[in-house]
Amino acid sequence: MTSSVVVVGAGIAGLACARVLIDRGVDVRILERGAVPGGRLAGPSVDGRPVDLGAAYFTVSDPAFRSVVDGWQERGLARPWTGHFEVYGESPHAPEVSGPVRWSAPGGLGSLAADLAAGLPVEYGVAVGELAGLGPAQVVLAMPAPQAAAVHPPAGAVAEEQQWRPCLAVALRYPSRSWPDFAGAFVNDHPVLVTVCDDGDRRGDRAPVLVAHSTPAYAREEAVADVEVAVREVLHLPDPGTPVAVRYWPEARPARPSGAPFALVDGVFLAGDGFGRPRVEAAFASGRAVADRLCGTGLAKSPRSGDGAR
Ligand SMILES: Cc1cc2nc3c(=O)[nH]c(=O)nc-3n(C[C@H](O)[C@H](O)[C@H](O)COP(=O)(O)OP(=O)(O)OC[C@H]3O[C@@H](n4cnc5c(N)ncnc54)[C@H](O)[C@@H]3O)c2cc1C
Repeated sequence: MTSSVVVVGAGIAGLACARVLIDRGVDVRILERGAVPGGRLAGPSVDGRPVDLGAAYFTVSDPAFRSVVDGWQERGLARPWTGHFEVYGESPHAPEVSGPVRWSAPGGLGSLAADLAAGLPVEYGVAVGELAGLGPAQVVLAMPAPQAAAVHPPAGAVAEEQQWRPCLAVALRYPSRSWPDFAGAFVNDHPVLVTVCDDGDRRGDRAPVLVAHSTPAYAREEAVADVEVAVREVLHLPDPGTPVAVRYWPEARPARPSGAPFALVDGVFLAGDGFGRPRVEAAFASGRAVADRLCGTGLAKSPRSGDGAR
C-alpha cells in the first residue's frame, strides 16, 4: 500500500481522493492554493447569502457519491432542486427539458466541499509551483489539466486533448423577482449566454438574484455589461440587474473530457472532471478512482513514466 501521498487541490476530486486514502490508513497531505476548499464549487457571500458562481448544481448517479449526498440531505446541507430546465433560444416558447434531478445546497455548493474537507489535513494558501520539494511522496494533481501542466509540464498533452473552455459567471441582483417562475435555463445558440439560474429558487430563499454563465467568447471581465443586457433581453426583464459578484473561470469545463477515470503521466496522477463527463460527480469519482488505484498498487511500484491509464 502507498505510504505517503500529496494531493494538490482541495476541490471535490482532491477531497474525495484524500478521504478514501485516509480512511485506508495512508499518510496524506492536501495542498490548496486558495483559502477555502471547493475550487469550482466555492462561491462568495453577497449581502450575507451565498451565491454559486461555479457549478450551477450537481447530479447524482454514482453510488458512492449518492451515499455522500444522502448524508448531506439528511443534515439539510443539500436538497433536490429541480428536474426541469427551461430552454431559451431562437424560439421564445421553446420547451423545457426534463432531466436528472439537479441538486443544490442551501448554504451554497461550497458548503458541501467544506463538509467533505472537515477533519482532513488541508493546508490552505499553498500554491504548488513544481513537483520538486514534495518529497518522495506519490503526487496527485486534482485540478483542471492546464493547471496540472503548470506544475507538471508533461500533463500539457492531456490539457491539449481535453480542450478546456473559459466562462464568465455573473450574479445579478434585481429590485424584485420580476420573472416568471423558473429554476434555470439553458440558452441555446446565444452569442453571450449559456445558462441562467434563479439563485433565489436554487437556494430556497427567493432572493431576487440570477446567475448567468457566459459563452467562451464572452468569458472576459469586460463582458459583464453584455451579460447583464443579454439576461434582461432573454427573460424580458423590466429592470436592469446590478452585478453583485463576478468570477472569471479560465478553465471552466473541458470540451473533450477523457474517457478514462484519471491519467497517470510520468508517475503523477491527474484527477478531476476532465475525466468522465465534466461534472461534479465525475470529479468525485475520478478522485476516488485514483485513491483505489493507489491503494491497489502501492507507491513503491509506481513508475515515473506514463502507464496508459489515459
Ligand atoms: C461556470 C461553471 C459551471 C459549472 N456548472 C456545473 C453544473 O451545473 N453541474 C456540474 O456537475 N458541474 C458543473 N461545473 C463543473 C464543476 O464545477 C466541476 O466538475 C468540479 O467542481 C470540478 O472539481 P475538481 O476537484 O475536479 O476541480 P476544481 O474544483 O477546479 O479544484 C481544483 C483545486 O485545485 C486548486 N489548485 C489548482 N492549482 C493548484 C496549485 N498549483 N497548487 C495548489 N492548489 C491548486 C484550485 O485552487 C482548486 O481548489 C461547472 C463549472 C463551472 C466553472
